[in-house]
Amino acid sequence: MNHNKIYQAPAVNKKLYGNTLVTMLSDGYLDASFELLNGIAANEAEALLARSGVAPLPCININVFVLQIGKRTILVDSGAGGINGWGGRLEVALAAAEIDPLEIDTVLLTHAHPDHIGGLAAPFANPVFRNVQEIYIHENELNFWCNDKIYASSNDRFKRNADFARNAFKAYQDKLIPFKNEAILPGINAVPLFGHTPGHTGYLIGDEKDALLIWGDLVHFPYIQIAQPDVTIAFDSDPHQAATVRKKLLDRVATDQLSISGMHFNLPASATIHRKNNKYLLNYDLWSPVV
Ligand SMILES: [Zn+2]
Repeated sequence: MNHNKIYQAPAVNKKLYGNTLVTMLSDGYLDASFELLNGIAANEAEALLARSGVAPLPCININVFVLQIGKRTILVDSGAGGINGWGGRLEVALAAAEIDPLEIDTVLLTHAHPDHIGGLAAPFANPVFRNVQEIYIHENELNFWCNDKIYASSNDRFKRNADFARNAFKAYQDKLIPFKNEAILPGINAVPLFGHTPGHTGYLIGDEKDALLIWGDLVHFPYIQIAQPDVTIAFDSDPHQAATVRKKLLDRVATDQLSISGMHFNLPASATIHRKNNKYLLNYDLWSPVV
């Protein structure tokens, strides 16, 4: 074995929220760097992760969610699809979860960064999920990535990301549903969390008593940014707004004891946030062998 990293086997975690079966899956990971973080030194970030009991590596896990609700099978984001060597394990994870990709008829996008839309389309706008009828995305997000003025005045990294987003949009162009309201589907509400990107959105599944909030990229390093919500990452479009939204939402979910999950949680799992001495603590829910 000449790799210093060994791929984890597909991680799958199913949970029921009201009448929605939520399958949480890992698409693999992306290699980042602690240098991308602002507001914490690299050695401090490493030490905080080690103290939290996770590998002190700048590897970011990528989660994808499938919601089975009524007759719909809904994919929430799509992982990275192997872009930049990131993720790309969704197909095997879906197989392990016994979900046929052809059953997926709806997609919800939290935002259009490559690690979220990369799994949707192959090059030349070829759709991966051929039976998808509707793709929901906040209109701010769609407008941002499709804006030619922003594109023309941006650096190469942004242009590359925009090309991936546009490729995915084109693959499903007659299926795109840009929204601005919160009620988008029965039992599913959009939660605007702008800042990480201009249309970054979470999705609240289920009812008040038995709900799950999938909060997208509210955090990239959960143990770092929940303990220190002011820490931002170079991927944020508006770091100040991203930090403000993070603090507001952490307060809300801690107060309401709302179940949450995110695309970059350390594993495909839900969690709750607790307050202790004016700090927030992340508590992952245990995997259960029976749903
Ligand atoms: Zn992301």
